[in-house]
Formats: sequence, C-alpha cells, structure tokens
Amino acid sequence: MKIQVSSPIVYPIDFLRVGRALLTREMSGYSKQYLPKFEAEFREVSGTKFVSAVNSGTSAIYLALAALNLPKGTKVAVSSYTNMATFFPVLQLGLVPVPVDIELKNYNMSHLDLEKILDSSFGAIIVVHIFGNPAQMDHIMKIADRFNLPVIEDCAEAHGAQFQGKSVGSFGIAGCFSFYANKLIGMGEGGAISTNDENFNSKVNDLRSLGFGKINKFLHDSDGYNFRMTNIQAALGLSQIAKLNLVIQKKKDIALAYNKILEQNSALFKLPTIAKDRENVVWMYHLALICGHSKCRDHVINEMGKKRIELRPGFIPYSDQGKVLLKFKTNARITPNASKAGASTFYLPTGTKLKKHQIKLITNSLVGIVESLH
Ligand SMILES: *Cc1c(COP(=O)(O)O)cnc(C)c1O
Repeated sequence: MKIQVSSPIVYPIDFLRVGRALLTREMSGYSKQYLPKFEAEFREVSGTKFVSAVNSGTSAIYLALAALNLPKGTKVAVSSYTNMATFFPVLQLGLVPVPVDIELKNYNMSHLDLEKILDSSFGAIIVVHIFGNPAQMDHIMKIADRFNLPVIEDCAEAHGAQFQGKSVGSFGIAGCFSFYANKLIGMGEGGAISTNDENFNSKVNDLRSLGFGKINKFLHDSDGYNFRMTNIQAALGLSQIAKLNLVIQKKKDIALAYNKILEQNSALFKLPTIAKDRENVVWMYHLALICGHSKCRDHVINEMGKKRIELRPGFIPYSDQGKVLLKFKTNARITPNASKAGASTFYLPTGTKLKKHQIKLITNSLVGIVESLH
C-alpha cells in the first residue's frame, strides 16, 4: 500500500445528498437546493458577509481580478512562491504580474520586498497563504492602504486559517478558495470568493454567470464567464465544512508529530516555524533540506517513492517558469528566496487517515535517506 500525500475524504451523508441532487434533477449552478446553504455556511469559514461559489480556485482568482476591472498593462504584485494558478489569471487578463519575494521563515510574501517594488503604477496585490500558513497580513494591509491598492488573498491552501484572530479571506477585497480534491475542503473541483464589499460581490456574481441581464436575461449587463459551481459539488461541500475543524486539528497533530521527530535532526532539515500570532492549518507539512541543491531534494523524493511513500516537491516560482515567460514575452524580476525554496522544499504526507506507525515509518525512512546523502 502506498502512503499518499493526501487523499479525498467522503462521508456517508455525501451519498445521500448527491443522490438527492440527482434524484430531484437539481444539478445545475442555479439550483437552490444545496448551493445557497453551502455559500452561507462557508461565510462562517471566511468570516465575511458574502461568499460566491465557483467551479475552481483558479476561476475564483480570475473572477476577483476581473471584477477589479484594471486597465490592461497594469502591474499586479504577486507572491512569487505559489501554484502558478495565482499568476495565470493576471497574465491572461492582460495585466503584468510582478513577483514579490518571500520570507524563508514561512515562504510567504515578504512585506519588505513588497514595499521595495510598489509604486503608483500598480493596481493590486495578490498575497498567498502558502501551505495553510497565513502571511504577515498586518504589515501587508498597511502597505496596501498606503498605496491605496486592493488586496486579493489566495486562500486555496488555507481554509480556516487565522492571522491575529482574523480569518484569512477577510482582510482584502477578496479571498479566493479552492475545493480541489486534496485541499482542506475537497469537493473534486470547486472554488469560492469571499468579500465584505457588497458592490464587489454583485460584480463577481454578474461575471460568474455570463453577465446575464436582470430584466431580459439575454440582454447581457456585461460580458461574463460561466464559472458557476454545480449543485452536485455543493452537495459534497456541506459535510466538508462541518468537518473542517476536525480535519485541521488532525493536520496540526500530524505536523506536531513530524516536528517532534525531525527536530532531532536539525542539521538535515529546515522545519516549518511556529508563530504565536497566526494559526497555520497545515494543508501540507512543507519543509526544506539544508542541502539546498534541487538534486538532493529530487533524490530524496525518488528514494522515498521506491519505499512507496509519496513526497512532492515545493512550487517552482514565477521567475523560473521559462516557457510561460517566453510566451508572454516578459522576464520576471528574480526572487532569490523563492528560487531557493523551489529548489530545496518538499512536503510529506498529511492525510487525515495517517497512523502513528506510518509517521514513524516516514520519518525513519526520510532521515535514513537524507543522512546517506552526506
Ligand atoms: C490549488 C491552488 C490554486 C488553484 O485552485 P484550483 O481549484 O486547483 O483551480 C490556486 N492557488 C494555490 C496556492 C493553490 O494551492
């Protein structure tokens, strides 16, 4: 049996809800069966007045940006170390992403680097709460306010995470969540946009549904997208929201167990840091090898794979995405910390079904392989 980094959870009630959606033919993104309830319950997670469900996390980022209606060519500051789903909507909307370097202590946007690059030619900031750990939102929001810039939070990996007691997704104009199968709330595919701004929310709702006209549906108010979530997905989401706190607790327990064992090998690993002012919901247990060379990291992932333990490498930052940069005829500023992270980080299994003996097996194997590198 293979130990995977994470696998989707299905609860017994999901069969009933999805079955009911099918039996009643309530399948579309217009259904009032589970969708409004899902959005209402997710408002408790994001801590915002409004939530709009969509079909993916990438769509959420796309819509949030589109709703800002920035002129083509406007610069957008984006945290460099992330899933490229954070960058692509910026490029595809004709905007210019400017990568912001990260802090190596938590792999999130460095507010110092953000301050260094911002000027009046920027139109927005996209901050990512990477691997479930909130970014330094107090400093980042202060800087954003000083430049009068809207902040979009990419919360795709951080459902329920808090910074200084406030939920991620409630700091900026918009929070963008993903419900891809292996996320903290997994519904196969799916996403949501959270906001406290009523105007922004109605723009998002228009754009998510083709900008259909309010009086005559087919006389459109604007050119929109079809990014609607289906009622079948929403049917799967309700149990996931109900169990979110349990899932987070389990993930935190797994992280503590990993920390406790790996701390004894601090010459080999750079472990995730624990900060008192924020709640890390540990989407994945993400760590770095002290040997900063990508060959070391890739060797370790390979060797662990032979032992049927799945490890995955960290993200490759925007400035290292050669093919994409070429296509958009742009070169990105170098973000050295993000590149360092891209070469040296990886993540360990954090599925909620992970057993104590598996954690021992994983850490023993890992330490053995990394020791043999030296
Ligand atoms: C998963 C993820 C996304 C994209 O979400 P999808 O639902 O897969 O489109 C965006 N940003 C980050 C940081 C992610 O981890």
